[in-house]
Amino acid sequence: MGVRILTAEIYHETNTFNIFPTDIADFENRYLLDGPAAIAARGDANTELAGVLDVAQLHECDITHVISASAGPGGRVTDSAFEALCAPLLSAAKSGVWDGVLLMLHGAMVTASYEDGEGEILRRMRAIVGPDLPIAVSLDPHANVTAVMCEQAQILVSLTTYPHVDSRMTGRRVAELLMRTISGEINPETVRAYRPMLEKANGGRTDIGPMVERQAMARAFEARKGVYAVSINGAFPCADIRDVGPTVLVTAEVALAGAQEIAEEIADDIWNKRADCLNTYLSVDEAALVARNWKGGSGPLIIADYADNPGAGAYGDSTALLGALLDADIQNACFGPLIDAEAAALLQKKSIGETVSLKLGGKTAPQYGGGPICVTGVIKWLGQGVVIGTGPIIGGQKRDYGATAVVQVGGIDILIVSIAHQMYDLNQFEMFGINPREAHVVGLKSMQHFRAAFGPIAGRIIVCDSGALCTVNYNLLDYQKVPRPIYPLDEVSSLSA
Ligand SMILES: [Zn+2]
Repeated sequence: MGVRILTAEIYHETNTFNIFPTDIADFENRYLLDGPAAIAARGDANTELAGVLDVAQLHECDITHVISASAGPGGRVTDSAFEALCAPLLSAAKSGVWDGVLLMLHGAMVTASYEDGEGEILRRMRAIVGPDLPIAVSLDPHANVTAVMCEQAQILVSLTTYPHVDSRMTGRRVAELLMRTISGEINPETVRAYRPMLEKANGGRTDIGPMVERQAMARAFEARKGVYAVSINGAFPCADIRDVGPTVLVTAEVALAGAQEIAEEIADDIWNKRADCLNTYLSVDEAALVARNWKGGSGPLIIADYADNPGAGAYGDSTALLGALLDADIQNACFGPLIDAEAAALLQKKSIGETVSLKLGGKTAPQYGGGPICVTGVIKWLGQGVVIGTGPIIGGQKRDYGATAVVQVGGIDILIVSIAHQMYDLNQFEMFGINPREAHVVGLKSMQHFRAAFGPIAGRIIVCDSGALCTVNYNLLDYQKVPRPIYPLDEVSSLSA
């Protein structure tokens, strides 16, 4: 019999400022699958699970995968949802005999009762399997990683890219380390360095800027004897919790001299370059002006609304950018997604080709990114918004927008959906009859992931901050629990690394 490994995938990035709790229905809306269904849907795509299965096949080990669950980033996970996600995992842990456990986690889950959702999952798992069983964890680099997580798991390995295009590769890396631990070849632990920052380290970007060199440093350190993985987490700032902020993790041989120093050296670099901002955040009016003057020719102007990214727990219904583009009378443009289930449901009762007037967006929190706007336009698409990704991040994976409509208002095709997803795949437009390649201007809601698919077709990319919930103006958010002082809320002179 092969090595027996228990695996699960439980993913949530919790924006504690989002007023809507994340319940089990929100997981069902993205995916909530038992083991066989998860392997069928996600076992051969850009997922950590696929990478784990690659390694399992190579080593002929027995994988028992119990659950794959993910909800769109949103408010705190309810206690009932959290318990429902943990139950099949913990019951499998109790009822089986295991050589190792591998959990694929995001690493920024906050629940109604636990600030550190992943720490709690790991604490419960450790209590069942005992102090010595190898536990390995893969993480999103937007993880807020706590000391508890590092105490409970020997191996923690984060993705190295943003946009996240190396999920499968990360699954392979973490599974290989688990296999080597089970075989007795290595005996790892993970140490952590932390800096008091809300800001994602240089936006977390790995396509340009200091993170490129940092990741290269990390790979170079991994060549040292006894150093197995160096993970850099830019963190997730929209969480009002004690353990918010960037961390560097070093998974190395237990008590290896120099492991903590590696983590601190990279963390120092994050700290020292904290003010190196890689994005220029335009106001919506500045963005609309750029759109007005855009000559085109080399591909569309892409305008990303950073602040209203549903992929970071913003509501996705901010109207400030759309309103500015409509006011500027931008032609041959598309915009999406605008998350407005009420409008999408109302539109389903109409017909394609019909002219409609409706109140759009801005219904959740008008103080963040603008209130509803009244528009009149022609319906161009109606139906259930199911998309299979074609790009580098979600290629082959299904996403469901729920009831969906496209309404052309002025020169802009507006994609109106019910279930929130950020824009990170061309097919999220193409499925609904919109061709972003041929557009003059594309307005979309995403911070950075859009670059993977939209970068190659773009004539130019600009980023704006509409003032929506994920604004980089953190003073607009009511942080209560983060440790003070913290950058950038407090004067730099009062801070030390
Ligand atoms: Zn992420």
